[in-house]
Amino acid sequence: KTIDTEIVIIGAGGAGMTAAIMLQQAGKDFVILEKMPYVGGNTTKATGGMNASETHYQKEQGIEDSNALFAADTMKGGHALNDSSLVAVMANSSAGAIDWLDTIGAELPKISFSGGASVNRIHAPEDGSGVGAYLVDRFSAKLNELGVEVILETAATELLADADGKITGVKAEGPDAVYTINAKAVILASGGFGANEEMYTTYRPDLKGTVTTNAPGATGDGIVMAQALGADLVDIEQIQLHPTVEQTTSILITESVRGDGAILVNQSGVRFTNELLTRDAVSAAELAQEGSYAYIIFDQKLRDNLKAIEKYVKSGITVQADTIEGLAEQLNIDSATLATTLADWNEIVKNKRDTQFGRTTGMNEDLTTPPYYAIKIAPGIHHTMGGVKINTAAEVINTDGAAIPGLFAAGEVCGGVHGGNRLGGNAVADIVIFGRIAAESAMAYLAK
Ligand code: ADP
Repeated sequence: KTIDTEIVIIGAGGAGMTAAIMLQQAGKDFVILEKMPYVGGNTTKATGGMNASETHYQKEQGIEDSNALFAADTMKGGHALNDSSLVAVMANSSAGAIDWLDTIGAELPKISFSGGASVNRIHAPEDGSGVGAYLVDRFSAKLNELGVEVILETAATELLADADGKITGVKAEGPDAVYTINAKAVILASGGFGANEEMYTTYRPDLKGTVTTNAPGATGDGIVMAQALGADLVDIEQIQLHPTVEQTTSILITESVRGDGAILVNQSGVRFTNELLTRDAVSAAELAQEGSYAYIIFDQKLRDNLKAIEKYVKSGITVQADTIEGLAEQLNIDSATLATTLADWNEIVKNKRDTQFGRTTGMNEDLTTPPYYAIKIAPGIHHTMGGVKINTAAEVINTDGAAIPGLFAAGEVCGGVHGGNRLGGNAVADIVIFGRIAAESAMAYLAK
């Protein structure tokens, strides 16, 4: 089958759907392909929110922030491995992206603290639902309203280019047909490769056997296809482990549980880290414990305050008891030790001083309201920071440092924005901001 169009978007996660809304609103002729039978990708799994600075929501809520501070926090979180020009664009465009989300009915008014941020900067939906599921729902509704149909179960398999290296289309495979799609521009929005064990162990043999939190479509297709056209890769070995993943179900325990006051203890029943250090640091601390796992401990008050926990309880991964001793018994932890750890922690919360590990955040509430809960966790593969190289216009850059004409990319398929460690809240910022930029650049390219 042959399709003639102007632009092909590969992947219908957050970045691809953002680009699709932009293109449709501008009246462009395009198709959007999604290899899974459903849209959303890894975006659906984003739980925290979207980092953005100098937003109208922050101003209304009296939160002082600046784009420069957002950029500085992101560079620091990424161990300064990030491409600072991409980071600056992300920070400077973030308030505008929040405004744009408002215009399509995807408001993120609830602001809180997230690891690595100097101020309250992570923006979430009002109703406490996960940001990813919320945005995918709103984006889908908007695309529906605009009359855009995502071509599902259809995977792009090859990027086509002419002798000068200019994009001429895409080859794709659906359930009943092989497609040649002729187009002048392609937006890669196919996500990362955290669900492709063969690919990530090629770059990181040490991660063999690690569980993944990724959606099944995160297989790195876009990276491989772009490489075939000479695209350069950046930071490809930078893979983020999330420190709190239940290992039998791969359920990710959101950072908000620690942000709201939970602690981590090892099998000996003692804390071993500032639980709100960056994800790489907390993961490393867990891997250094006996058995390379830990327990996240919280109480009923925390459960009542955090909607996400209901899902964990329902899925049967929580252990609960009316007393700390009862909890310790079920976890096979020495009960006196666990009781001391909890008593010490509650003192720390009272005095707001963690002399042992220097934790300064997520300590507004003590853990004193029974029943008490625990979930056994360990690190899991969460985000692939590396990917194809792009410039600030979301053009894909080849190994000679030149833009590949007609090829644009946004979201987890790209490297450079997050450096060596992505901060919570920056994946959603990345997809919305660079999804918009990729659409604008593709349109500008067509107009040339
Ligand atoms: P991002 O956060 O960058 O938007 P997501 O993981 O949310 O990334 O979305 C990427 C989407 O791309 C997923 O839905 C995934 O199934 C889809 N995808 C991956 N490879 C292909 C491909 N070869 N063809 C079409 N869609 C793809």
